[in-house]
Amino acid sequence: MSQASPTESPDQNLQSSLRENRIFTPSAAFAAEAHVKSFAEYQQKYAHSIADPEAFWAEAARELDWFAPWTRVLDWKLPEAKWFVDGKLNLCHNCVDRHALGARAEKTALLWVGEPADEVRRISYRELHEQVQRAASGLRSLGIQKGDRVAIYMGMTPELAIALLACARIGAVHSVIFGGFAASAIADRVNDAQCVAILTQDGSWRRGNEIPLKTTVDQALEQAPSVKHVVVLRRTGSAIPMQAGRDHWWHELLAAAQPVCAAEPMDAEDPLYILYTSGTTGKPKGLVHTTGGYGVQTYLTTKYIFDLREDDVYWCTADIGWVTGHSYVVYGPLANGATVMMYEGAPNYPNFSRFWQLIEEHKVTIFYTAPTAIRAFMQWGNEHVERHDLSSLRLLGTVGEPINPEAWMWYREKIGGGRCPIVDTWWQTETGGIMVAPVPGAVPAKPGSATLPFFGIEPDVVDRSGKTVPAGSGGLLVVRRPWPSMARTVYGDAERYKKTYWSDVPGCYFTGDGARRDADGYLWLMGRVDDVINVSGHRLGTMEVESALVAHPKVTEAAVVGRPDELKGQAIVAFVTLDAATAVSESLDALKDELKRWVTKEIGALARPEEIRFTQVLPKTRSGKIMRRLLRELATTGHISGDTTTLEDFSALAKLRENEES
Ligand code: ATP
Ligand code: MG
Repeated sequence: MSQASPTESPDQNLQSSLRENRIFTPSAAFAAEAHVKSFAEYQQKYAHSIADPEAFWAEAARELDWFAPWTRVLDWKLPEAKWFVDGKLNLCHNCVDRHALGARAEKTALLWVGEPADEVRRISYRELHEQVQRAASGLRSLGIQKGDRVAIYMGMTPELAIALLACARIGAVHSVIFGGFAASAIADRVNDAQCVAILTQDGSWRRGNEIPLKTTVDQALEQAPSVKHVVVLRRTGSAIPMQAGRDHWWHELLAAAQPVCAAEPMDAEDPLYILYTSGTTGKPKGLVHTTGGYGVQTYLTTKYIFDLREDDVYWCTADIGWVTGHSYVVYGPLANGATVMMYEGAPNYPNFSRFWQLIEEHKVTIFYTAPTAIRAFMQWGNEHVERHDLSSLRLLGTVGEPINPEAWMWYREKIGGGRCPIVDTWWQTETGGIMVAPVPGAVPAKPGSATLPFFGIEPDVVDRSGKTVPAGSGGLLVVRRPWPSMARTVYGDAERYKKTYWSDVPGCYFTGDGARRDADGYLWLMGRVDDVINVSGHRLGTMEVESALVAHPKVTEAAVVGRPDELKGQAIVAFVTLDAATAVSESLDALKDELKRWVTKEIGALARPEEIRFTQVLPKTRSGKIMRRLLRELATTGHISGDTTTLEDFSALAKLRENEES
C-alpha cells in the first residue's frame, strides 16, 4: 500500500486512497490447461458476451438439458425479468440424472466428512439419483406439491443437499434456514413464506457439541401454524419427542416411498427457492430465485471461475444455509458433475488443523472460503497449516466480504503455496451467482480486488444520477442490465424489491455496495454504502481504513464506523481486535496512538481514527460478516436497539457494552 494522498475536493462520490500495486499473472502451466487461456481470450469473449448477451446466455443454456426449448431468451421490463421464456427444465435432473444416467454414474458426487472423527461418506451420482428420488417421492407422499413452500433447517449432512434437490425435483420451493438460527428466526421465515413442511434433524454436531435442531423447530412451530409436516433425519441419535401425525422420520418416509420419481418439468420462471439475506445491513429480505436463469448462471460461473476439470475435488466451506452454499455447494458444481466435498463441523474442531488435514487427506484441488475465515486462520498461526501437505490444491477462492490485501497475500503464500490463483468473487444473495471475479488462467489478480466482470455482466461505478465516475474515484456499484440468475422479487413484496434495488439509480440495479474502478477497469469493493463515513465533507468507505488497520502486525480484525462530530460532521471510531499475545502485554494507550499514526501514514490524515476501542470480539452475522450498523449505534448512542436476530454471538454485545463502561 502506498501513501497517495486523497484529493481534497469534497464530492458526493466515495473517496478512495487505497493503492495496491501488486499484480499476479496466472502461471503458464495453469493457463495452458484452463478453459480460458489468456487475457486476450477473456477480453474477446467478454466483448462478444456484452455485444449480444442474449446470444451468449442462450449458448450457455444449451449446455443444460431442457424438456422444452425457450421461445425468447429474455423479456425485460424493469424491474421484471423473464429468462428463457416458455423453456421447461428441472434442475434436479440437470444436477443428478444426466450424470447418473451417463458416464458419471460411479463418480463421487458428494464426499462428506462428519465432525466426529473418521466419519466419511462417498455418494456416487448413481446413489444420489436413488436417494433423491426416494426423498422426492417421500415428500409427495405427504401431499407436498409443486409450488408449495418447504422450510429446511438442517446441519451440513448429505441429506441437506438431497433435501434441496428433492424439492427441486417435485417443484416445491425450498426455503433453507441456517441451522444456527433461533426459534423466532425460524418462525419469522416460515410464516413469511407460509411453509407447509419443515425438514430437520434430531441434532447436528458443531465444535463437539450437539445443536438440538428438532427441539428448536418444535419451539418455532408453536408460532408457525402453516407447517403440517415435520421430517426428521436421525443424525446424533439423541432422544427427541415426535408428534404423531405431524412428525415423520426421514428414514421411514424414504423406506416407504416409491423408488422412482420423475422430475417435474418446471417452467424456466417457476420459483426454485426463497432465501433470506444475511442481515448485515438490516432486517433480512426473502429473495426469490427461479429455475432456468439461475441454473444457467450457476452452472456457467462454476465451470469458468473455478475452472472445473473432471478430476477436481471441489470444496466450498460455506454452509448450505447461505446463498454461497445453494449456488456453489449444490446447484453450480453438481450441474457440472463435480465431486463436491462437504464438511459437517467447525474449522477449529477437534483442532486448528482440521481444514488442512481434510485437504491433505482428500486431495482437495479447489478451496473456496470467506475472508473472515482466512483472518481467523492467520490468527490461529501458521504452524497449523505447515503441518500438512496442501500440494493437491490448484485454485483458491473467497467470497462474502472485501478481502484485505494482507489476508489475500497470506492466503496465496501459506495455503496456495504461491502457486494457486485466487478468485475473489463478488456477488450477493440477490444476484444468485458470481458477477465479478477473475477468470483464472486469463485475468491477472490484484490482492484485494474482485477484478473484472464475468461474461454477460455489465457492472458500473456511478454517482446517484447514474453517471459513470472517473477511474480512480469511488461511487455506487450498479449493474446496468439484467442477468439470468438475478432474484425476481422479494417474496410477497414486489414493491420492496423495486424500491430497494431498482429505484436509487435510474435504469440500474443498485447493489448497496460502494466500489472504485481503477485505470485497468478493475473493481475494488469499498464496503456498504450505508456504512460510508463522512469526514469534513469527504465520504470514506469502511474497507480501506479497516484494511490499513489490519495490516498492522498486532491487529487481527477491525471495524470502523462514523459517529456524529460537531466539527467534522462525523468522526471515525475504530473497533479493533488485537492478536492474543498483544492483548495482554501491551500498554494500550501507547498502542492506540501508534495505530492512529499508522492509519495516517498508510492512507492519510483524513482517515485517522478519532477514537480506537479495543474489543475481544466484533458483532458478526451468522455468516461471519461484521455488523457495523450495531457498532455505529453503540458508538453514537451508547446502546443497541437495531435488529439483532441474525447476530452470531449474543455475548459479543455484552462484551462491547462492558468495554463501553470501563
Ligand atoms: P443484508 O443484505 O441483509 O444486509 P448481506 O448483504 O450481508 O445481508 P449477502 O447477500 O450474503 O447478505 O452478502 C452480499 C454482500 O456481501 C455484498 O453486497 C457485499 O457487500 C459483500 N460481498 C460479497 N462478496 C464480496 C467480495 N468478494 N468482495 C467484497 N464484498 C463482498
Ligand atoms: Mg445485502
